[in-house]
Amino acid sequence: GAALRVEGLGLQIGGATILKDVDLDIAPGSLVGVIGPNGAGKTTLFNAISGVIRPTAGRILLDGDDITGLSVPKRARAGLGRTFQTSSLFPRLSILENVRVAVQAAHGGSYSLLKFPRREDAATAQAIEVLEQVGLAHRLDTPAGDISHGDKRKLEIASLMATDSRLVLLDEPMAGVASGDVAGLVENIREMQRASGCTVLMVEHHIDVLMGLVDLVAVMYFGTIIALDTPQNIMENPTVQSAYLGTGATA
Ligand code: ADP
Ligand code: MG
Ligand code: MG
Repeated sequence: GAALRVEGLGLQIGGATILKDVDLDIAPGSLVGVIGPNGAGKTTLFNAISGVIRPTAGRILLDGDDITGLSVPKRARAGLGRTFQTSSLFPRLSILENVRVAVQAAHGGSYSLLKFPRREDAATAQAIEVLEQVGLAHRLDTPAGDISHGDKRKLEIASLMATDSRLVLLDEPMAGVASGDVAGLVENIREMQRASGCTVLMVEHHIDVLMGLVDLVAVMYFGTIIALDTPQNIMENPTVQSAYLGTGATA
């Protein structure tokens, strides 16, 4: 079955239609790019899938289970992880503490930040392991607020890896990242997917970044998905080409 299934998803706010008849069927372990002009509804779709907003129509299924009515924390515990267009790290906590917080939050229950530093437990070991994988383990005690934008994104990827998310939604992970850091971040995303077999949806402006990385590209346009195909076929799709004509936008 599908890792993620979206059926007839709709969202009306006031009189406005933000999402309309969104259907998606994503196989487990796929890496899927999401493109579309600014305002097409990409972030809103991620908000609906992750439970930040409630759709006014349709259903969302995670590994076959209907999660449409679940709260954000319950979805996270069911294996859904995401990043936001704006970084959601704790700038005053260290690199290690940020991953520990993510692990604690995903597993639920109460926790104390005071207990974090260097506590020798399984979650700390796991946090250090994922930080090694993204290349941040040499700076465990550096405050997250002091690191580069690209490294913040790596830290977010590490947090998702540490929480064993089965479905990961990345909203413009490359935005604002220095061009020299893009290749490393792409490799981190690939490694996250390979190591855990998780399913990844990522909003990304540049089709050339998606080309060597993703299995499929979903195109959003005016609140709905107008195409889901290989990157190559998407580039050659006349519907996609005409949808982009006149907007001048690539994402
Ligand atoms: P994208 O991520 O593709 O750029 P968004 O999902 O951010 O697009 O926005 C899609 C559309 O929905 C935009 O026109 C935006 O103004 C509108 N929108 C998003 N959230 C709300 C909201 N809470 N209330 C009203 N309009 C919204
Ligand atoms: Mg936008
Ligand atoms: Mg957006």
